[in-house]
Amino acid sequence: MPEAEIGIIGGTGLYEMEGFAESHSVVLETPFGDPSDAYVLGKLEGRNVAFLPRHGRGHRFMPHEINYRANLYGFKKLGVKWLISMSAVGSLKEELRPTEVVIPDQFYDRTKTRKDTFFGDGIVAHVSFGDPVCKGLFRILVEAGKEAGAVVHVGGTYVNMEGPAFSTRAESNTYRKQGFDVIGMTNLTQAKLAREAEMCYVTIAMVTDYDCWKRDAEEVSVETIVRVLQQNAQMAQNIVKLAVTKIPPDQECECARALETAILTRPEDISEEVRQRLAPIIGKYLK
Ligand SMILES: [Zn+2]
Repeated sequence: MPEAEIGIIGGTGLYEMEGFAESHSVVLETPFGDPSDAYVLGKLEGRNVAFLPRHGRGHRFMPHEINYRANLYGFKKLGVKWLISMSAVGSLKEELRPTEVVIPDQFYDRTKTRKDTFFGDGIVAHVSFGDPVCKGLFRILVEAGKEAGAVVHVGGTYVNMEGPAFSTRAESNTYRKQGFDVIGMTNLTQAKLAREAEMCYVTIAMVTDYDCWKRDAEEVSVETIVRVLQQNAQMAQNIVKLAVTKIPPDQECECARALETAILTRPEDISEEVRQRLAPIIGKYLK
């Protein structure tokens, strides 16, 4: 029996979830090192849920310091099939205002130093990533967002910058010319790993500011972001509570079969060490 079916990742400003029943913490070890913190397991609206703050409680990890592989591996180990990530983002468009919600359907990679694959070191796999967000989970979050009373923007491209400094104005204007919608530092890396681990994935992007392109807006500062984020945190939790009630009991989408044709290494050439290291992820294909 899996310990959790739905995983929730808290971002900046969201380090715990309200409304958990029967909650308890679990510290996990993974072959990729330690996750950002203990997972909090419990029931949310009757569903078995695991929560993890990706920056750690007390906000201890920079975006590039987060051990994304350990975090996602931990969720997989707990039995998680659906992963909802809450995230603070900067807006690249006038009409995407602070405190509004964007549910992105695309990502654009501007990271430099991330370890964003479970594969390598003895096993090769290339997953399809043309549609990086689970379509079913996407629809559920859009619906839940509207029901919660948020202004929801359906779809859009999330640029995953490296950080930790925010964008220069030249960068911000370039992203705008490219038609991108929101900017953040973490969610593409998670999406890649979720796909490899065959977990359905979606991001709730909560707009906190206008990045730095909007000359009449307040310059982006951590202080401004945290203030709006506290307002956003409550809404994000309301949306998640509504969303978990709509998630089906079983994964019926392609996300659950992402590795079916992705592993290129011949089974006879996959070592026992690799099989053990990736057991929760590739085990079902190597019986
Ligand atoms: Zn899916």
